[in-house]
Amino acid sequence: MKGDAIADSPLAEAFLASPNHGERRGFARPDCVILHYTGMPTGEEALAWLTNPASELSCHYFVWENGRIAQLVAEGRRAWHAGRSVWKGESDLNSASIGVEIVNPGHGPSGEDAPPPFPARQIEAVIALLLDIGARHHIAPERVLAHSDIAPARKRDPGEAFPWDDLWRAGVGYWTVPAPIEAGGAQPLRRGDEGPAVRALQALLALYGYGLDLTGVFDKQTEYVVAAFQRHFRPQRVDGAADSSTIATLRALLDGLPLIGMGATKG
Ligand SMILES: [Zn+2]
Repeated sequence: MKGDAIADSPLAEAFLASPNHGERRGFARPDCVILHYTGMPTGEEALAWLTNPASELSCHYFVWENGRIAQLVAEGRRAWHAGRSVWKGESDLNSASIGVEIVNPGHGPSGEDAPPPFPARQIEAVIALLLDIGARHHIAPERVLAHSDIAPARKRDPGEAFPWDDLWRAGVGYWTVPAPIEAGGAQPLRRGDEGPAVRALQALLALYGYGLDLTGVFDKQTEYVVAAFQRHFRPQRVDGAADSSTIATLRALLDGLPLIGMGATKG
């Protein structure tokens, strides 16, 4: 082994090798973590799919409902979980990340179900795993991301039921208590609006890391990104409309990152 070989987590109790991986390109080691729900009826089905060469999908770690953790791909290798995605201008998130699949059926086959809650034992295991990964790779808290953050038009996982607040209170990830939703407040920015306020919103979202074009028009991509932001940071209402609570929460997150744009990306 090379001296700089990347270690794997001691918390994984089994290595169930997936053939679906390759070489990391441009990243000697991961600098972010992408969280997923498996989105299949059972964990067994998800595990079979992620280890089937036909799927061309995998992840590094797989966390069961009971908190047991399996490893499918070595951390030094590029697992295939992100798909077409972007964060802070980086589009090869598979090379940049550790991928963690969390067993949960998600929004169901119709895409319309409310995702069921994640059991406490499972979340405790996710927290322990992310503390371990974060410490070994010096991953910045704000770079613990949802699949929906990096692919907002395609993905909704790990979904609005995922307890980002519990992770944050345990020292994992970056979050803040969302600004309250005001009844009868100012009209939210929503689909079809345009002008400087929309462009400013797009600029703040892009500064945080989301991949979107600053069109000045509250277009479909903007609606997807706002919904992704809400899923992660203001899950009480995920509607893709930028109300005052959503914008204030985004500003508070940015205010807590004094060095944003000056070192939060790969370097
Ligand atoms: Zn995913």
